Amino acid sequence: MSNIIDQLMQAFGDKSVLTGSSIGDKYKKDWSGVDGRLPIAVVRPTSTEEVSQVLSFCSEQSQAVVIQGGMTGISAGAVPQEQEIAISLERMNGIIEIDKESMTLTALAGTPLQVIQEAAEDADMYFPLDMGSRGTCTIGGNVATNAGGNQVIRYGPVRALTLGLETVLPDGTIISSLNKMLKNNAGFDLKHLFIGSEGTLGIVTKVVVRLYPKSNATQTALCALPDFPSVLKLLQQCYGSLGDGVTSFEVMWANYFDEVIDTVEQAQSPFKQYHHFYALIEYQGQDQEQDAEKFAAVLFDAMENGMIADAVLAQSLKEADSFWVIRDGIGELLSVMGHVVNTDISVPISSMQSFMDALEPALYKAFPDIKLRIFGHIGDSNLHVCAGTGLEKDLDAISAIIMGLIGDYKGSVSAEHGIGVLKKKYLHHSRTAEEMALMATLKQALDPKGILNQGRVL
Ligand SMILES: Cc1cc2nc3c(=O)[nH]c(=O)nc-3n(C[C@H](O)[C@H](O)[C@H](O)COP(=O)(O)OP(=O)(O)OC[C@H]3O[C@@H](n4cnc5c(N)ncnc54)[C@H](O)[C@@H]3O)c2cc1C
Repeated sequence: MSNIIDQLMQAFGDKSVLTGSSIGDKYKKDWSGVDGRLPIAVVRPTSTEEVSQVLSFCSEQSQAVVIQGGMTGISAGAVPQEQEIAISLERMNGIIEIDKESMTLTALAGTPLQVIQEAAEDADMYFPLDMGSRGTCTIGGNVATNAGGNQVIRYGPVRALTLGLETVLPDGTIISSLNKMLKNNAGFDLKHLFIGSEGTLGIVTKVVVRLYPKSNATQTALCALPDFPSVLKLLQQCYGSLGDGVTSFEVMWANYFDEVIDTVEQAQSPFKQYHHFYALIEYQGQDQEQDAEKFAAVLFDAMENGMIADAVLAQSLKEADSFWVIRDGIGELLSVMGHVVNTDISVPISSMQSFMDALEPALYKAFPDIKLRIFGHIGDSNLHVCAGTGLEKDLDAISAIIMGLIGDYKGSVSAEHGIGVLKKKYLHHSRTAEEMALMATLKQALDPKGILNQGRVL
């Protein structure tokens, strides 16, 4: 057994340090489909002090470390590489405090997102971050990836929802910035260094998030639309008539919607006819009756103006959930698609139409049998393009076409899943050489030995 593993075992014991056959496969892969190496050990600290101690040992011996949250990432950032020790936050799980007056919740970084949502709900408040992986992804992983999710158009991504962080630097230094205030300009706002840095600058151990008042009324509709210009017009109409009460505007291309209906057992279409686009719209207000009338009037108007071909307004929570089953069907879809490029790109909304007009023919020209499954949050510029021939050998060429066009349209190669390992080679399409050099300078300053999540992002 190597020196470092001996040292960790002596300090923390075999409940905290897994080695050899006690390391399960779950520590080897995330949702990217990339099959990693088994880490040489998995360390499962239970406190910030233990994380600090583990990192000081690793730093002293220049031991490479990979950080693991819920392992739902899609960019392979948490997937172990050769000779790495994995630090899993799975035992740092729990709500530390809900401060109702300050409207904040403080949690350990390994707490699953759904536990945080439920704790807020129990306190009669609301935590608006939401995504299909809610049961497994952790708040620390959400911070590290600056996760987006389904309600970014109203509440922003994790960066907008995070007030404070506690982080451990690669040398073991604990940086405690558990700020609860919306206004705090006392020096640099250090949390922003770590949010979205994908574990390359420090390990997040505690998180303070903002809570919101619970909405008393949610309206949900599934609309069928004839074409993409109608999608964009409907988005504008919803903003114009409903203001920031619009919390979700999820758009599904027919190639995604129809495939989910065919593949996912619980997914059922409320429509009899084929349509080119579908939009799942959610509107949150405070008065069920008045809001329902207002929402219906906006959709009726859009129908009269030809933007909507057909629409169903959910009459119950169960019906609303059944619409979300279709939108959340991506997990199951990916598991049957075989080898597929699963992108989370963004382009300015004003360029989206011309981007798609260029992308689809370019992909079909290169791969006539390619399957495309497209959906997106749209209101926040985010498109998920899943594209594949089923053959592993085509993946790189497909990615190169998509990412190259992203550069041309001044978009982002990652709207929310992060760069990790998989998108590293495309970062230059979205960032200038100077921006990348500054990122490298920050990495060098905080992690001079390069032990933390090395080879990810940069
Ligand atoms: C079905 C499904 C739906 C999804 N939907 C969305 C969506 O709508 N929006 C979205 O943004 N993402 C989505 N994702 C992607 C994923 O759930 C998010 O990226 C999530 O934030 C990852 O959290 P995690 O705890 O699983 O992190 P992991 O996968 O474990 O790790 C992700 C990255 O963060 C680092 N990391 C993890 N924990 C910490 C920590 N405590 N400190 C520092 N670094 C850390 C890891 O090293 C890695 O680089 C989806 C995934 C699935 C499978």
